[in-house]
Amino acid sequence: HLRIGVLAFQGDVREHIHVLEGLGAQVVKVRRPEELGTVDALVIPGGESSVMDKLVRMFGMQQPLRDAIAAGMPVFGTCAGLIMMSDNIVDAIAEQESLGGLHVDVRRNAFGTQIDSFEVQLDMPGVTKDPVPATFIRAPIVERVGEGVRVISALPDGRIVAVEQGNLLGISFHPEVNGDSRVHEYFLGRVAQYVTEKKASI
Ligand code: GLN
Repeated sequence: HLRIGVLAFQGDVREHIHVLEGLGAQVVKVRRPEELGTVDALVIPGGESSVMDKLVRMFGMQQPLRDAIAAGMPVFGTCAGLIMMSDNIVDAIAEQESLGGLHVDVRRNAFGTQIDSFEVQLDMPGVTKDPVPATFIRAPIVERVGEGVRVISALPDGRIVAVEQGNLLGISFHPEVNGDSRVHEYFLGRVAQYVTEKKASI
């Protein structure tokens, strides 16, 4: 079994756990460095990035999370999770910090308010064979991609909504909310590969 952590301070933790367990992963809620130390990979859920950031720092998790990302741990962030992983938040609220690691600029609430939530069918070449239903809820967009970042998916108007950089996968929408587990399945595949390579190098 792969041991997958879900950062469990705030947001749609339960939805991610449900999808991951459905795919056979062993899931651990992560709030402390000791818990982070036991997992093969981490999911950062959607929610409210400024609140999540506050809790991460209050619990002394900012540095441990940055260290884990720097060490190559696979991390999958959805929506607020993507914001947390981004090097730069162009419209961060006062004192809001991200963890960074993913070399992108991200804009929060790029589609307006809660009312402007919507669902589309999205192509994700290299991740899924067929389009996935993508639910956007006060979603961010990626405004700039830096070195080593691959764009996985964009809306028809060109706005970037899914990126990958090494072991980091960040997407603007919420595959965990509409009963489609293919993106999580892709991530677990990447984690399995990472775990195998890590073992081989010891
Ligand atoms: N707008 C939220 C933020 O800035 C993200 C919304 C979400 O995760 N659904 O963190």
